[in-house]
Amino acid sequence: MEFDTTATQLRGVLGLARKLISIVDEQELLELICRTARERLGYTACALSLRGDDGAFRFCAVSGLTPAQEATLRSLELSGVGFEALSHAAMQSGRVYWVPPDHPVRQRDDVRAGIIATGVSVPSRSWQQGSMLFVPLIGTDGQPVGFINPDDPLTGELPANEQVLLLEALAELTVVGLEFIRARAVERSALAVVEAQRRQLESLMMASAEVRGGLMLDDVLREIAVAMTSAGGFNRAAIYLMLEEEVLECRATVGLDAEEDAALRTTPITLAEFAPAMLPQMQISRSYLFDHRRFFLPAELDAKLNVPVVDREWKDGQWHPEDMLTVPLVEKNGTLLGLISLDESSSGLLPDRAHIEALEFFADQCATAVVHARRFEAVQAEAQTDPLTGLANRRALEEVIDISVGRYEHFGEPTALLFIDIDHFKDVNDTFGHATGDLVLQQVGTALRERLRRGDLVARYGGEEFVALLPDTTLQAGIVLAESLRGRVEALDLRSICGDIPIRVSIGVAWVSPERLDAESLLAAADSAMYEAKRDGRNLVRSTAA
Ligand code: GH3
Ligand code: MG
Ligand code: MG
Repeated sequence: MEFDTTATQLRGVLGLARKLISIVDEQELLELICRTARERLGYTACALSLRGDDGAFRFCAVSGLTPAQEATLRSLELSGVGFEALSHAAMQSGRVYWVPPDHPVRQRDDVRAGIIATGVSVPSRSWQQGSMLFVPLIGTDGQPVGFINPDDPLTGELPANEQVLLLEALAELTVVGLEFIRARAVERSALAVVEAQRRQLESLMMASAEVRGGLMLDDVLREIAVAMTSAGGFNRAAIYLMLEEEVLECRATVGLDAEEDAALRTTPITLAEFAPAMLPQMQISRSYLFDHRRFFLPAELDAKLNVPVVDREWKDGQWHPEDMLTVPLVEKNGTLLGLISLDESSSGLLPDRAHIEALEFFADQCATAVVHARRFEAVQAEAQTDPLTGLANRRALEEVIDISVGRYEHFGEPTALLFIDIDHFKDVNDTFGHATGDLVLQQVGTALRERLRRGDLVARYGGEEFVALLPDTTLQAGIVLAESLRGRVEALDLRSICGDIPIRVSIGVAWVSPERLDAESLLAAADSAMYEAKRDGRNLVRSTAA
């Protein structure tokens, strides 16, 4: 039988070195090592074992064995101690180790559990059947990370000098190749992280455009909460807005069930109570990461926040149910508008600084949206109220009449409407001036509002005219209420404002009916009933025919 010369074998090993550059898969590398050892260096078989995180060595690549043998080999587990015992017992040539079959170390339980004796395919010379040849793979820290285990040399001889050098070279190349592949994997995952962060920032920017387009505050807050979960990378979010006196009110949540949501919304929390979750030492960028490993949440705060039950599967470095991220919602001028409380990162990991900064960028957009929405609502509220009396104005009234008409049409629910006009009001203005007239209007407005029930709406219709809309009220009940309002105004003591001039009202009552299904005709009917009261002598109530 002819054997490859050392030069040919070396060429085989160098060929492997070249391939290392392009291999990206660790398993592919390990199998190539085994194949090279077997085919180029002349062995019946070769196996490769790697040390796991637990310190035990397991075979993970094999060449030249039957599937059954391979399965047996892969089921073995050599403990770190077993490996050390084997190394100590071995005869060493360079960095190649050999343990004869009859060495006492082979009887150790931990060694028997980790290796098996195999037969020979050629008559042995210096080699012995059942002996074990291995070349440790030494990592950069000097510790063994595995070993190559060629078996049954085709020469029947133990490796001599050149063969030892070739095996050593193969082991070195294996370590370099493994380092290479692992470094590349780390680099790839770092790139993936950067890419994920870029995508997250991008989706947050898109979400902020949506949030900034919102007009009504509650819509804006809901959008923020949704974006914080979908684009922000958290499963649960709660948005708190600051009221006066440093009280925070939960206005929107995502990821909570209805009960949890209601509990948060109805439990206001002061900024001082929130403080234990916003300590300076928790600060990352402008946010606060409450890391349960380093901080303790007081029971009172825990009860007010929504802290989910502890998950047993938690591992260090992962997001823990007691962890919490708080991103302040700060106006451009530095005013604290509220807080965004985030829970359960979707990646399962604690957020890093870049992630938090992306969330803050988004929170700043949200702050602007909140300011705009608040301004819009204020303007809208202004547009719906009468500045003199604080009552609803004509526009607000007409909107509510439309709703009442709808309820009558769909559910047959009755609605009464009172048209209230102050009698001889001109006399007040003419005698005491317009400013006194205004005071009287305010007093009458207040008296009407106080006399009405919850759900009723009283509006200043214009000048010295008021309208009361009474949902779920029949014409008869409306007449009774009108009479009581008339009496209430009559009983007002306004002598300090307008002396002897009596303040009285005439009231016309109408109700929503098939002939009056819009604001205009309903108001016209009540107005004409009111004029009937004027004609009949004032300080009276009159109604449209039922
Ligand atoms: P009548 O019993 O027929 O209703 O007599 P009246 O004087 O109340 O009726 P008229 O509609 O002629 O007069 C309403 C007056 O209300 C005229 C107007 O100067 C006054 N007025 C309208 N708006 C205001 C207001 O905002 N403030 C004050 N002080 N007066 C107002
Ligand atoms: Mg009048
Ligand atoms: Mg009038």
